[in-house]
Order: sequence, then structure tokens, then C-alpha cells
Amino acid sequence: MNLTKTEFKEYLLCDKSLWLKKNRPELYTAGEFSLFLQKILKDGDEVESYVQKLFPEGVTITGSNLSLLDKTKELLENKGTLFQATFETRAGLFAKVDILKWNQETEKWDVYEVKASTEIKSDFKHNHLKDIAFQVAVVEEVLGKEQVGENYIIYINKDYRRGEELNLAELFIIENMTREVREILPEVKAETTTALELLHKEEISYQDCPCLYRTTGQRCDTFFFFNPDVPEYAVHNIVSGKKLTQLVDERIFEIENIPEDMKLTLIQAAKVDLVKSGVPRIDHEAIKETLSKLVFPLYFLDYETLAKPMPPLPGYKPNQAIVFQVSVHKLLEDGTLEHFEYLADDIEHASEGLVKMLREVVGDTGHVIVWYESFEKGRNAELAELHPEAREFFMHMNERIFDLMKVFTQYYADPAFGGSFSIKSVLPVMLPELTYKSLEIQNGTMALSEWEKMVTGKMTPEYRALTRENLLRYCELDTRAMVELYKILKAKVGL
Ligand code: SF4
Repeated sequence: MNLTKTEFKEYLLCDKSLWLKKNRPELYTAGEFSLFLQKILKDGDEVESYVQKLFPEGVTITGSNLSLLDKTKELLENKGTLFQATFETRAGLFAKVDILKWNQETEKWDVYEVKASTEIKSDFKHNHLKDIAFQVAVVEEVLGKEQVGENYIIYINKDYRRGEELNLAELFIIENMTREVREILPEVKAETTTALELLHKEEISYQDCPCLYRTTGQRCDTFFFFNPDVPEYAVHNIVSGKKLTQLVDERIFEIENIPEDMKLTLIQAAKVDLVKSGVPRIDHEAIKETLSKLVFPLYFLDYETLAKPMPPLPGYKPNQAIVFQVSVHKLLEDGTLEHFEYLADDIEHASEGLVKMLREVVGDTGHVIVWYESFEKGRNAELAELHPEAREFFMHMNERIFDLMKVFTQYYADPAFGGSFSIKSVLPVMLPELTYKSLEIQNGTMALSEWEKMVTGKMTPEYRALTRENLLRYCELDTRAMVELYKILKAKVGL
């Protein structure tokens, strides 16, 4: 069994998760987190293809893994620049080097690692230094230490703003990291040895995993496989640090079983009380007062976006979101409801059509209702910058925004929300019949990845039409859900 750089990264994040993925793939659950990782890998490939243009003399090595090894051996003779030069050590470490360049002066091979990131990270989650150190360790072992020269990381300049054309020399930063790589090389070599030993184990314990002692943020999709006794809304959602350790050590996972004498903050205590009481806590007066101030017509609005490391259009920065879709439900005071929608058919004109549609549909008066306002406000500010002719419109729209989620976070607590106020947590409790489960596209990550496939032409016309329809229905449900939640709230407080 071999170990690639990507797998080594996964190993550093979690050994159990990698073992399961490699040795028992049938047990490995791939959920939204995995989908997100796939997007990151895809973005990485795209960035790499642009970086290669900075090395016009480079030769790309393609083929199956076995033939890559042979072709690499052959092409090394030419002492040029190779993309995806591939090496495997006797122990099974497998590396495809982004760029391997023969340095005429030093007469050594320089190793370049490309990152679709706007900085060189060395934190626990993204350790770019360890990535390149893995590659260097493999190349050194196969070619010999004396053959390897400088080590560079190429990453994205966060201050770059695209003009008509991409300026690759300005977009990418090439940084010499040889000294830093040398410092951590012994540590990385030791870690690769331990990783390979683990992968060769026939079995590991399926009982618990380290995330049992952590809050929910670091979990992978397999958390509930390793920790089946932990409910979805558990003590992990309430406390952290020493308190969490104490509870886990005592195998207390249910919130209602948190001991009375545990010292909690006011917010934590309120959450525990809510679960123990089992009934929603609703501030009717505050909801009534808040909703009665809304000005009609009400525009329930939701955007879908795609952010790419490579700025796709003039005026965009790296990772700036393209707003490719919007759904608007317009509600009049007499109850009349109209639906408007826009979905871009290509990247180039995505925001133009959307801006036009919004200016026609969303008038000058009335509140614009969203769920989690900082997202829509941020996109509006970017659209205002990209479309100066609509600047006033978007700035004014931001003044009219009302965040429906805040009504829930401030005045409506229900233990059934499971500690989350995302619309996908609130909706099934308040309105179970209106569900995302029947839709083909069920979350934002799926939506952006399907739209990207749709506009990059990797679909048959029939499948494209179907995807278009699926995207429209998904976004429509987001705003329809807000309308219905608004109506339920009104009814509950007698408005
Ligand atoms: S939930 Fe955390 S510790 Fe458990 S397998 Fe996943 S990443 Fe590893």
C-alpha cells in the first residue's frame, strides 16, 4: 500500500479517518465535508494549470501511475522542466511533483509546490510546509539528496485584482522555502514512516475517535461511525475544553445529563435548560414588535455563489464570489405572493443579468428579508463595486435588509433546532412538510458544484436542462421557506 501527499495530509489531520478510507472504503461515509474537499482539490488543479504557463518550457507527464514513473525516469535525462514528475520510494511513498525544474547554475533539481491559497499556511489544518517537505523527502530518496536543490511554494497574491486579462506574474507569488523545508524534513520523514505502518495494520479500533474530545468544528464525515453513542445534538455543542473532557470521560453525551453542579456560563446554562424543559421558549411580544415594523412589499431574497481562487472576470479578486443565482419572493400586504428567479447560463455574464433582474424586481421601498444578513450584504457590496451604475441600488438594498434568522436567534429557541439556526435546521421543525430532502440539490456546496459543471460544458444538453431546473427549485425553496416561516411567526404572535 502506498501513501500519496494528499493522503499524508489526511493522515496528519486524522489517522483513523485515513485508515478507514484506505482499508475499508465501504465503511467510509462521504458527506458534505467530502464534497467540500473535492472542490478544494479541483480548485488546486485549476490553479496549477495556470501556474504552468509561467514555465513555458515545461513538459507535462501524463498517463497511469505506473507509466508516469517510467516516463519521469526517461524525461529526467533531458534536464528540463517537468510537470507532475512522479516518484515512488521503496517503502511506498508516492509523489507527483507540481513542478520539477533543472537549475543550470546549481546543477540540481528545484522543487516547486503550487497552492491555491492566498498565503503559506503552517497551521494544523493546512500545513503547506509539510506538503512540500513530503515531496522533497520522496524526490531526495529516489534521486539522491545531492540532486535536490531549492524548494519553492507558489501561491496566490491576495491583493491582485484582475484587469481585462489575467496577469499571471502579478497573480502568483513564488517564495523560496528551502530553509524552512530543511528544518522540518526529519519530522516529516518520521511521520511518513508512522503513517505507512498504520496503513499496513489489518484492523484498528472502531471504538471512539479523537474528535470525541473536541467540539464539532474538526469533525470529518465519519464522526458518527466511530462514535455511535453520541447524539447529533450533544454536550459537544454546549461546552468545550476541560468541561467537555470531564463529560466525555464520564461518558455523558446527552445534554440533559450534564450534572447540575457543573459550572456553566449563562448562555450554556440557558441551552441546557431549554433541552431539559423540552419546550420552545418564545418571546411573543418581541417578535410581534419586530415583525410589525417591517415595511411592505417584502422581498424574500437568497443568493447562490461560487468562489474561485483564480479571478474569473475583470474586476474580481482571488476567491471573490460570483453571484450566479437569485430567488426572490415578493409578498404584498394583502397576501399576494409572486416569485422571481434568475440563474446565469455562463460565468462571463453571470452578474450582469442578475443585476438587471434585481433592479427590475426589487423596487425602492419595502424590506428585503434574508437569512444570515452578512452574506447577502457582503455580496451586495461587491456587486455595487463591480457595477458602479447599480451602486446606489445595492447600497440602498443593504439598508433595507432584515435578517429573519435573528428573530430566531434572539426570540425563538427550540430544543429541536439542535443548537443550530441555519434554515436547514429550523425548517424541518417549524414546517416538516416543506423539505429539502425531496430535492436533487440539497445544500449550497452541491449547488455551486453543479452550476460550475453546468457552465463549463461538462454536461449533455439534457442533463444541463435538468440541472438548471434542480438549481432553480433549490434556490426557490430557500426563499419560499423564509416566506412560510415569516407567516408562522406572525400567526404565533397574533399579527
Ligand atoms: S471525526 Fe475527527 S477524529 Fe474522528 S475520524 Fe473524523 S477527523 Fe478523525
